[in-house]
Amino acid sequence: MATTTLKETSNLNISAVIENMQTGGHEQVVHFYDKATGLKAIVAIHNTYLGPALGGTRMWNYASESEALTDVLRLSRGMTYKAAITGLNLGGGKAVIIGDAKTQKSEALMRRFGKFVNGLAGRYITAEDVNIGTKDMEYISLETKHCTGLPESFGGGGDPSPVTAYGVYLGMKASAKEVYGKDDLKGKKILVQGVGKVGQTLVDYLIKEEAIVYIFDINADNVKLVTSKHKVTVVDALTMFDLDIDIYAPCALGATVNNDSLSKLRCTIIAGAANNQLADEEIHGLLCAEKGILYAPDFLINAGGLINVSIELEGYNRDRAMRKTEHIYDAALSVFKMAKEEKITTIQAAKTTAERRIEEIGRIKLPY
Ligand code: NAD
Repeated sequence: MATTTLKETSNLNISAVIENMQTGGHEQVVHFYDKATGLKAIVAIHNTYLGPALGGTRMWNYASESEALTDVLRLSRGMTYKAAITGLNLGGGKAVIIGDAKTQKSEALMRRFGKFVNGLAGRYITAEDVNIGTKDMEYISLETKHCTGLPESFGGGGDPSPVTAYGVYLGMKASAKEVYGKDDLKGKKILVQGVGKVGQTLVDYLIKEEAIVYIFDINADNVKLVTSKHKVTVVDALTMFDLDIDIYAPCALGATVNNDSLSKLRCTIIAGAANNQLADEEIHGLLCAEKGILYAPDFLINAGGLINVSIELEGYNRDRAMRKTEHIYDAALSVFKMAKEEKITTIQAAKTTAERRIEEIGRIKLPY
């Protein structure tokens, strides 16, 4: 038991946490600390109107606790939108473990975290995210059943990337249908930025459809994996956005749709796997529309991974995950239609669609 004097509550700025929850519409924020393992974690449950909050656990060496809190609040809200627009009966949540994944991870720390998650009694379901891998999930699953995204050897669905890539591909096809009148990608010039797990499978689909593919990645091994398999053109960071292309597929990292890239990009569609592609949702969502670029909302078309882990909760079946992911095509078309009809950006339309579903389905859960 700690015997030192606690800081005054005011110094911890608790009121700022509640204020942030109020602004973001969060339901619950839980802080965990364990002396024996050094575990410091925060779980944010954003919204559970549609079902238990699902979202991965990220381990990161945050500079401060408030940085970790900001991240978990932002990420958990994003999960609510992703689950809602995909038609899943799940809410949005996320967890962050504060610490260096290279030096501070241990079996005991992960299992302690699993125990904490278990204490939330299923209001929050955890999964993999940045710096949390298969082995960590195995440890977590020893202490709680409220986790998903487990390896196949543990009865889970394994790597969700192929399902994510399928959803991105279908979202891209829906975008092509909207812009070019048909969803055929044959002959379309497509830049894939980032050929990791998702990007590589996406390239497989694109090549199969006889698209003309350009790739860029900072990892030479991943580039080689693609070039050894397919006829693609490798480009570099400096010239990538000057290319004459039809479609830009960001599959590496967020915020690549920004003032700089938009001042150069000459494509008509942006559709990729990365999370938070727009550096600023309002500014760059609008700028895309003004430039005549159709932006396929990231959280909608990259939802295959979430669909995959949600299927695992029912008893995993890859075929069912792929079939459910096919809804992304129609969902994207209806978002584009709403954006046109209501004269709003596609990202606004996607968020409005998600919010309407949360409200409508939330209402049917009212008592008789
Ligand atoms: P990954 O780590 O396997 O691949 C990412 C690739 O991007 C790597 O090859 C890396 O070298 C490359 N990269 C990193 N920085 C880059 C840069 N500055 N320029 C060019 N390339 C760069 O990740 P992934 O699983 O393929 O996921 C790709 C993106 O999609 C990520 O943003 C991820 O958050 C998002 N996403 C993935 C899934 C999934 O199921 N894997 C689901 C939803 C969203």
